[in-house]
Amino acid sequence: MNKHDFNPESLMMTYGYKPELSEGAIKCPIFQTSTFVFKTAEEGKAFFELAYGLRQKSDTEELGLIYSRINNPNLEILENRLSLWDKADDCAVFESGMSAISTVLLEFLQPGDLLVFSNPVYGGTDHFIHHFLAKIGVHTIGVMPHQSMEEVKAMIEASGKADKLAMIYLETPANPTNNIVDIADFSLLAKKYSTDDKQVLVAVDNTYMGPLWQHPLQCGADLVLYSATKYIGGHSDLIAGAVLGNAELMIRVKTLRTFLGNMVSPHTAWLMLRSLETLKVRMDQQTKNAQVVAEYLNQHPKVEKVYYLGLLEEGTDKYTTYRKQCSAPGAMVSFDIVGGEREAFAFLNNLKLMKLAVSLGSTESLAEHPKTMTHAGVDPEQCKQMNITAKLVRLSIGVESTKDLIWDLDQALEKVAITESKNEVLG
Ligand SMILES: *Cc1c(COP(=O)(O)O)cnc(C)c1O
Repeated sequence: MNKHDFNPESLMMTYGYKPELSEGAIKCPIFQTSTFVFKTAEEGKAFFELAYGLRQKSDTEELGLIYSRINNPNLEILENRLSLWDKADDCAVFESGMSAISTVLLEFLQPGDLLVFSNPVYGGTDHFIHHFLAKIGVHTIGVMPHQSMEEVKAMIEASGKADKLAMIYLETPANPTNNIVDIADFSLLAKKYSTDDKQVLVAVDNTYMGPLWQHPLQCGADLVLYSATKYIGGHSDLIAGAVLGNAELMIRVKTLRTFLGNMVSPHTAWLMLRSLETLKVRMDQQTKNAQVVAEYLNQHPKVEKVYYLGLLEEGTDKYTTYRKQCSAPGAMVSFDIVGGEREAFAFLNNLKLMKLAVSLGSTESLAEHPKTMTHAGVDPEQCKQMNITAKLVRLSIGVESTKDLIWDLDQALEKVAITESKNEVLG
């Protein structure tokens, strides 16, 4: 038979699982166990030699199962399946997106290093960078959405720490405004500052595109990170994270994970295996729905501006980057309502089908107010520069009928009273 490369969605039900090792069960059972029995003491010794890197693995040898903080079949199968979407050598799953992010930052940064990061970033990441990394003496430079690569270079040079640049951390599209940055451009910048004995790494939080619509490793990034709580889990019933990259970097990530002990539990891994079977159909439907929602909002008189990749104007730099880097606009739609917090809250309080909750990427549609919720801890002056203002509302679009979603948005916007004075102020 001819060799045939299956698409990832065709492999999500079976890849990496051997029924004969589990009584022929068609589905991978939950390996709800803390430890694994060695056949002999010699076998236990051999497994530990590999786990602790005391000797090289022979060609035919696989790391045996030892203890669920080090390895577990549910985690290994999940990691193998997740690796297919991003064409990564390896993957490590974590107990949350934040623990994936903080483990990567802790492993690859040390006191005195310089970290360059794009703004805005997820509220938790923003906190970790500004509070924890500052505390351990890591210098940081935040790049604002309007800044060019020339300006970024100038900031690195002006910092006097160019030789200490260790990592560029990007979130694109960014939560909550869908701001995008060019991964390939930043990868070139990282190469420029790399030397024979120091590689400047590029890590990308790809949560907003899930593993489907953007593949940062293919654009030159070294590590890709996910809050798997979002599209990958997809049902608002678990918290998890993932990191993917080449074998050399992933050994370091997995080693730190072993000692921090922040791997995902077998049960959560099993839930994610189930989620992955429908990842593509869910995400395809969600992005289709989101385009309809974004277009509806874009023509509504009570909506001032819509932040959605599917509405980017042709000919702009952001549009060029989007077309080069992403294969779909995603299911996250943010918009400025005419007015401010009062109008935004009136809209949120009147939704009937969509739920007022943080998180995203799930089968049900959610709505929230970034300025007072997910991004409440972000510096107010910086918020303004990143368009995170009182009038911004963030929607995550699910798999419901678009007729019902539009009905809901319509009736909630209908109930928003725009006061005379507000209208005058807005001219
Ligand atoms: C939710 C989120 C995170 C944090 O993930 P948790 O699973 O909640 O820890 C990180 N980055 C982005 C972009 C997110 O949306």
